[in-house]
Amino acid sequence: MSYRTEEVAYVQTAQPAASVQAAQQQRSTAEYRALDAAHHIHPFSDMGSLNRSGSRVIVKAQGVYLWDSDDNKIIDGMAGLWCVNVGYGRKELADAAYRQMQELPFYNTFFKTTHPPVIELSALLAELAPEPFNHFFYCNSGSEGNDTVLRIVHQYWATQGKHSKKFVISRKNGYHGSTIAGGTLGGMGYMHEQMPSKVENIVHIDQPYFFGEAQGNLTPEEFALARAQQLEAKILEIGADNVAAFIGEPFQGAGGVIFPASTYWPEIQRICRKYDILLVADEVIGGFGRTGEWFAHQHFGFEPDLITLAKGLTSGYVPMGAVGLHDRVAKAIIENGDFNHGLTYSGHPVAAAVAIANLKLLRDEKIVERVKTDTGPYFQKKLRDTFANHPIIGEISGAGLVAGLQLAEDPKARKRFANGGEVGTICRDFCFNGNLIMRATGDRMLLSPPLVINKLEIDEIVSKAKKAVDATAQQLGIS
Ligand SMILES: *Cc1c(COP(=O)(O)O)cnc(C)c1O
Repeated sequence: MSYRTEEVAYVQTAQPAASVQAAQQQRSTAEYRALDAAHHIHPFSDMGSLNRSGSRVIVKAQGVYLWDSDDNKIIDGMAGLWCVNVGYGRKELADAAYRQMQELPFYNTFFKTTHPPVIELSALLAELAPEPFNHFFYCNSGSEGNDTVLRIVHQYWATQGKHSKKFVISRKNGYHGSTIAGGTLGGMGYMHEQMPSKVENIVHIDQPYFFGEAQGNLTPEEFALARAQQLEAKILEIGADNVAAFIGEPFQGAGGVIFPASTYWPEIQRICRKYDILLVADEVIGGFGRTGEWFAHQHFGFEPDLITLAKGLTSGYVPMGAVGLHDRVAKAIIENGDFNHGLTYSGHPVAAAVAIANLKLLRDEKIVERVKTDTGPYFQKKLRDTFANHPIIGEISGAGLVAGLQLAEDPKARKRFANGGEVGTICRDFCFNGNLIMRATGDRMLLSPPLVINKLEIDEIVSKAKKAVDATAQQLGIS
């Protein structure tokens, strides 16, 4: 039987592959580093300098801990890259992938076809998302999600006969991914400079970053309101008939965990409604429990028209992104002919199966609920108590299990370090050496641990962070 022959052939080719894998696991750190330097270009890196110092090689993980190739146990204060919400080593997700790979490893969702995992995932997302979100489009990443957002926004206005509505307003120091569309939407100048061309009709307003940018005696609420009102000024400058959408992260993640004051989002929403402009919440970090709500826009109390999802959707176990459409947008897309956009892997069955298993854990083990009522408040209080009146901590921002620590030369005067980026790197290196992963963005230190973290592990992160910040102050000669 040809079926048997194929099976035997498969087993035979599988054996050498397994022995290659065993050999790989026996390499020394030095060997890994040499091979990595010889063949691997890392994202967002200065490869010359990285290759001279050597990468940290992470070999395994469990719960909130990572192990490197020298067998150091490291506590992961960043949940990988803001994504491992259910923590490492969850068998339920591995089993879901294994089962799905055997049942149906791939089929596309183009050409009038669908499959059970993508159907079940869509129904589950509709259940978990706020009431008006009942339709989902799938992709493989947050960047692709925001590319998709642009397509949907333009298709939406075309269906409304408003063809001049083309501009999308975004924010400086926002992050929306690293495709050409994602990079253009984002407000990171260093990314813009590197691009040969950008997506047309995207403009930026200032960010609601009180500590870094508020002048004079404005309160945080007054400042946030003023920053929101820049949206109105920009709309009037471009003409409301030319503006399609505003996009923002409910709180800026990669930009430094910047939480706007409570006045910000209601004003943004009011302006979007007044001028008939779609409001897009990039929930790639904020989604799936980070703030203690399922979605960060619920934390801030506003209702977007579109939400971008990725990261925590699968807890990073496999890549997947999505866009959620508010009923009024979905209706226009559904009832007006072809929507000409799709990825080979839109709604990939393995990713969908993993997403379902992941979302069920977040729901059934009450992980999101615990972030809201228990571990989130504990983490926030612990950080604020620990760093109260610290000589180089200017503010702690955040909610639930995400936080930004502002490094400052004179916290009370809101005076930042002239060489803030270097100070951040010093602090980040002290964290690394203390076996804590805490990220630095300029002069802000970021924490975003797995949502399954317990109080003892929170204590460990905060005390390690304190040691690193103290060591940084000491190196700078500040006490
Ligand atoms: C990470 C991120 C993205 C990009 O997601 P990728 O999966 O890296 O493409 C988009 N938006 C936000 C807010 C993010 O944090």
